Amino acid sequence: MHSAGSSLPATYFDGRSARAQSVTLQLLGEGRQRSLHIQGEGVDLQVPAHQVQWPERTRHGQRLAHLASGGHVQCDDGPAWDTWAQSQGQRESLVVKMQQSWRWVAGSVTVLVALVVALQLWGLPLVARAVVAATPPGIEQSLGESTLAAVDEALMQPSQLPQAEQARITQAFADAVAHQDAASQRSWRLVFRQSKIGPNALALPGGTIIMTDEMVALVNADTRVLTAVLAHELGHVQQRHGLRMLVQATVLGALGAVVLGDFSTLLAAVPALLGQAHYSREAEREADAHAVQVLQAASLSPLHMVTLFEALEHERQQKAKDSADGKNEAEDSPSWLGIAFASHPSDADRIAYFRAAAQ
Ligand SMILES: [Zn+2]
Repeated sequence: MHSAGSSLPATYFDGRSARAQSVTLQLLGEGRQRSLHIQGEGVDLQVPAHQVQWPERTRHGQRLAHLASGGHVQCDDGPAWDTWAQSQGQRESLVVKMQQSWRWVAGSVTVLVALVVALQLWGLPLVARAVVAATPPGIEQSLGESTLAAVDEALMQPSQLPQAEQARITQAFADAVAHQDAASQRSWRLVFRQSKIGPNALALPGGTIIMTDEMVALVNADTRVLTAVLAHELGHVQQRHGLRMLVQATVLGALGAVVLGDFSTLLAAVPALLGQAHYSREAEREADAHAVQVLQAASLSPLHMVTLFEALEHERQQKAKDSADGKNEAEDSPSWLGIAFASHPSDADRIAYFRAAAQ
């Protein structure tokens, strides 16, 4: 079934000119390394497969795959594309399989109507919760990947931390989390990035947690303090806050997406949403409570979180002073990214909460 390297004739548009170029497509490599090779006269591109917006399989018509560069590849022979994509192990999304079934479509309409009624009766937060509960993990994963791509493009560069240092921090956190009941844990992965937003950390839908090099530097790579902030972010992962925020911010689009399988609207809205959206105070409290629980179970003091709040506050004051002195570098304000840790800084309540937990 998996015939490695088989190719498909297609047409490439670079997104700048209207010129159609004949190319062949090949999918090579595995996992994160998987890439789409587009080759033709004067065209030789390799694009990470996870950055390609793959077409949904419909019954008829051409297939269009959008590239992050703004270009796209097109194949007028839909069945040939589907056969090729399947033989290359491109997994078909659950949504597409469901869409192929008429019974599913009829059922979807019923669900959609029920959701709209529920929205009027119970309001947005409860309905968003229900939509989140009904969203398959695979869909949350795709949302997470496009969110990571958007964040990377706008704000991040590859981490300068040595691999061994990244591994040491990840291991310390994994050790702390190991005290939690494994069955109730959502999976997470930690990635490091150099950022344009200073010391920060954030959790994306699907369980990816980003830690910035600047955050590691701010606390002198003290793994106890880093574990505290990661435990807070893991709280957001556990409660699927990222997905809930996206759903709530685009509720009608999301209803359509979940029920009818059109994710393009939701995906297109992600970068803009990240600019404004933030977690609710309730979500932050839940994440703080999770942090305390992880720290205590691992015999670490909740006061490590207070240390972090103080370091962030010091950093903020330093920056305000520098900017008053006119030495401010062009750095985006952390408040740009509403869901990130440093965007919802410590207030007296939060500090008191962690101090009390340490008693
Ligand atoms: Zn948070």
